[in-house]
Amino acid sequence: MTGSQAAGVRFDVPEPDAFTRPYWDAAAEGRLLLRHCDGCGRDHHYPREFCPSCWSEDVRWRDASGRAVLYTWSVVHRNDLPPFGARTPYVAAVVDLAEGPRMMTEVVDCAEDRLRVGMALEVAFREDGFAVPVFRPAGTG
Ligand SMILES: [Zn+2]
Repeated sequence: MTGSQAAGVRFDVPEPDAFTRPYWDAAAEGRLLLRHCDGCGRDHHYPREFCPSCWSEDVRWRDASGRAVLYTWSVVHRNDLPPFGARTPYVAAVVDLAEGPRMMTEVVDCAEDRLRVGMALEVAFREDGFAVPVFRPAGTG
């Protein structure tokens, strides 16, 4: 048995560093942050210290609207990494945030047969020792 297979190890725990800590702190407060570039005006995700569009380092944190539309998804029926196995089936998804960036996430509170490309979603936060942004159909909160 390797260390990563030891009881109690979780594979869904973020490891914030000095750069990403504001993102996780905001999530704990129910806020989704994006990186905003004052050079070209674009937002990006995942967080980087420079703008992936224009390479400017004039980038700062900004609150996202929390609105998104579903781009694609996959219903996961098996995942051996704890704690995901206890959550199956779940909807692994890619969403297009209203601000532009595409984000890997999970869709919750939605029956599989109601998932549609382009459906309106809103951010929610899963609280399980730490807060992680997930998305649910808009208007269900
Ligand atoms: Zn830029």
